[in-house]
Amino acid sequence: MRTLHVSDVAAGLDILFAEISELAPKCRFRDCTHAYEPGCAVQAAVAAGMLDPARLDRWRKLREEDRENTPSGSGSRGNKPPKARVKRR
Ligand SMILES: [Zn+2]
Repeated sequence: MRTLHVSDVAAGLDILFAEISELAPKCRFRDCTHAYEPGCAVQAAVAAGMLDPARLDRWRKLREEDRENTPSGSGSRGNKPPKARVKRR
């Protein structure tokens, strides 16, 4: 899957893995990677059979990719996303 723009990944993760995004705030740590942290709500869901571990695995890989690719400061990658639409009334 290389069709997503870098900046779309973060937003896409929230949509594709909505259940993980919903569980994340319940984790003990805000920057939880849902890998080995104690008090992880996502891991608890996996343990309870409510979440597919394969999905968690995919989520972690995509998130890592997103972090690595996120440019710091002014991005010069030339693949900037289109400007966010501002609702005007
Ligand atoms: Zn977690």
